[in-house]
Amino acid sequence: MSRVLVAGGSIGGLTAGLLLRDLGYDVEIFERSSAELQERGTGIVVLPITEQYFTQGGGDADAERRVSLELSDWTYVDRDGVILASDEDHFRFSGWSTIYQALLASFESQRYHLDAEMVGFDQTDDGVVLRLADGREVEGDVLVCADGLGSTARSILLPGIEPEYAGYVAWRAVTPETELSEEALGYLADAMLYQVLDHSHILVYAIPNSDGDTAPGRRIINSVWYRNYPDDGTFAALMTDVDGRRRSGTMPPGSIRAEFLDEMFETAAALLAPPIREVVLQCREPLIQAIFDLEVPQMVFGRVLILGDAAFGLRPHVAAGQAKACADAWALRDALIESDHDIDRALDLWEPRQLDLGRSAVANTRGMGERSQVEGTMYPGDPSWKFGLWEAGN
Ligand SMILES: Cc1cc2nc3c(=O)[nH]c(=O)nc-3n(C[C@H](O)[C@H](O)[C@H](O)COP(=O)(O)OP(=O)(O)OC[C@H]3O[C@@H](n4cnc5c(N)ncnc54)[C@H](O)[C@@H]3O)c2cc1C
Repeated sequence: MSRVLVAGGSIGGLTAGLLLRDLGYDVEIFERSSAELQERGTGIVVLPITEQYFTQGGGDADAERRVSLELSDWTYVDRDGVILASDEDHFRFSGWSTIYQALLASFESQRYHLDAEMVGFDQTDDGVVLRLADGREVEGDVLVCADGLGSTARSILLPGIEPEYAGYVAWRAVTPETELSEEALGYLADAMLYQVLDHSHILVYAIPNSDGDTAPGRRIINSVWYRNYPDDGTFAALMTDVDGRRRSGTMPPGSIRAEFLDEMFETAAALLAPPIREVVLQCREPLIQAIFDLEVPQMVFGRVLILGDAAFGLRPHVAAGQAKACADAWALRDALIESDHDIDRALDLWEPRQLDLGRSAVANTRGMGERSQVEGTMYPGDPSWKFGLWEAGN
């Protein structure tokens, strides 16, 4: 069977690697990090495609329960904690690391290479040679590049196409339920809480703890607060860490400068609803994820393809970043089956479908972000404000 090389061993690369391995391909994954990925330990909304490997793929049937939990209500509160709107709406939630670890555990460790940075590749008529930073060269039949928003592959294949800062960031915090009051726990038992603020909004929801425990009282509460930082020097200052180093997309816990932390905590104390405020104020080391848009005109380049965040960077409002990476991987599997494992034919089938999906998802999430952060027209109970990759709820 053909040999598949995957550059990038996060959610997209692992899902593609697992699905193609399960089809019988000889798969190797090359990940730049020297250690397993950990920095992104905050919450994610789990759309069905994100955990489809566990529910329909090679994972065991009980894994769904272990990687995510379900909340049944979508609730909006005001500054005083008064409920403004509440719908019964079932979504699943998890931690980024929980999903990553569950996928990683399903892939052979000897085929998952850490400290293996792709620096380039060469193509032949029917294959590809991957070049790594340590000088190694690896031959394969196809190269799947799942190397994220700052993709090396994209910068080689589509120079000049870069993520564009959207004008705001997400402050992400996690607080154990054990540190919250009974009143806050009451709000958060079955509900995801939203608060709409002036050109800003925040959402808060439960995720499993680091042991995968989903029992109320032992879970972690995750908050995501979208706040505007104009690109007039303010954003650059925010993204300069305590050691004076300019970071590109993420400020990990412990790296954010005191002046920005203090301002955020003060604003939280003044404006946030009591249960949401507790979650934000209890976490003294939040992280910042800068929000970008990215859209590519092409995803297949001979026997090299780019997928997930490397190709389309989605604002997180529909919770579809990982879902899009997973959808690209599932569609690749389906195209290989449909083409009877003719790789070139499969890539011809795959690319237009995934370009369409990426374009519509970017347009949708950009529109939602504009409504909340720029126009200020997001409102509590807005029925169109829902998670989903293809459409609301899906
Ligand atoms: C810091 C951060 C935090 C996030 N937190 C959340 C969250 O809490 N909730 C949420 O819903 N979404 C979150 N997201 C978004 C979500 O993680 C992505 O949408 C999703 O993981 C997309 O998966 P991906 O595999 O395409 O890309 P990524 O997850 O970005 O993975 C790319 C991988 O490629 C590796 N890599 C990069 N360059 C090379 C190279 N040259 N050679 C080899 N490997 C390389 C990277 O180390 C990384 O492991 C976060 C994203 C980031 C960047």
